[in-house]
Amino acid sequence: MTVPIGKANLVIREATVLTDGDALASREVHIGNGRIVAVARTGQVAASPRATVIEAAGRFVVPGLIDSHVHLGGTGLPGRDEAEHTDPVRAEPRLADHLACGVTTVADLFGHPPAMFARRSAAAGAPGTLPRVLVAGRGITAPGSHPTSTAYAWSQTLATSAALETDDPARARAHVRQLADADRADLVKITCSDLGGRAPRLSRATLRAIVEQAHGYGLRVLAHVHTDVDALDAVSAGVDGIEHIPAGPRIRQVFAAMADAGTVWTPTLAVMEALAHADRPRAYLDRAYPAMPARLQPAGRALTLAAGQHARVRAAAARRILSATLDGGLAQAVAAGVRIAAGTDAGNNYTPHGWSLHRELHLLRQAGLDGGAVLAAATHVAADKLGRKHAGVGRITNGGPADLLVLTADPRLCTAALTRSALIIAAGATFEPA
Ligand SMILES: [Zn+2]
Repeated sequence: MTVPIGKANLVIREATVLTDGDALASREVHIGNGRIVAVARTGQVAASPRATVIEAAGRFVVPGLIDSHVHLGGTGLPGRDEAEHTDPVRAEPRLADHLACGVTTVADLFGHPPAMFARRSAAAGAPGTLPRVLVAGRGITAPGSHPTSTAYAWSQTLATSAALETDDPARARAHVRQLADADRADLVKITCSDLGGRAPRLSRATLRAIVEQAHGYGLRVLAHVHTDVDALDAVSAGVDGIEHIPAGPRIRQVFAAMADAGTVWTPTLAVMEALAHADRPRAYLDRAYPAMPARLQPAGRALTLAAGQHARVRAAAARRILSATLDGGLAQAVAAGVRIAAGTDAGNNYTPHGWSLHRELHLLRQAGLDGGAVLAAATHVAADKLGRKHAGVGRITNGGPADLLVLTADPRLCTAALTRSALIIAAGATFEPA
């Protein structure tokens, strides 16, 4: 018996649907008004005769990709132009780059809050032309820690707006209330790091206050960390995500604690790899991003400015941390039961929007995730980390957003298939890939 679905205006027929760890053979996906109307066995649902039909026998349909850690104010190239961060319109080409790479949801975790909120509104007002944008708004950090004294130290505007500097539990709670009630932030971003002894760090009491207040609103808390001790304190305070690579001798303990608590790890390998090669950026970009358009490549002068002794020292440190993660660290976390999400830190130097997620997927595979786990990292695990499970983001489910990729090969066998979509569908609108 067939059930008529009059609202579907796009039908993908005979595909293998990969969602939430399942493989559903010979399925039809019916799409209408930007949402998934039905996922059914072929022939079970009669579509409207006016619906456009995409024959997809032998093809694979997966959820649109999620980059769960970006900074839309950053261009991905060296150079300091405050307007790139504060003028929301400047970021539109970067959002377009995400979509062209199959990234249909991004989470912006630190930036100029008014620009963040404006970009989110612009994207929400143009579904199907820009990816979905989730924002943290103004983050929380200890006085003089990251990003106010680091990434944004060059701009008074950014340094004072990106994060609230406090270590007072009551002030931190009040700020979370402001984020939830007034700003309608999608999640809470914090920094839990003393920058190697150069700054204070959020106390355990403040960490617990932030988490308790945020969870009361159903908001996830994501913590930028540097060391194993930062990660242990953040996890025991109840944060939902650990961002970047916590370094130190107690890393096994960190992974055990994360697995116990269900904390998601986003190692941001793409930005770590870029840092590890910041002393030789041209050779790095040629190797890591051979297909990237010339407009996203840095000019010669920018490359000269970025090199030098300081870059060499930082690069050597980043290389050690990256290789420890690629050569066993990530596999150890997975073996301990830690869930891994894909996130790039795009917007930082040599971490281009959209393209760096493709690189991240390659690096996650290289670090030992199997193909299915790489797909999960960039879809439903990332959605869970961002607190979007209920909304159907990162999954292919009835009533969920019609954000899909049609692939010519099985991404469980070949991760590169995720970077070579035959068709990208965002909020029901179809796109050619980059
Ligand atoms: Zn970041």
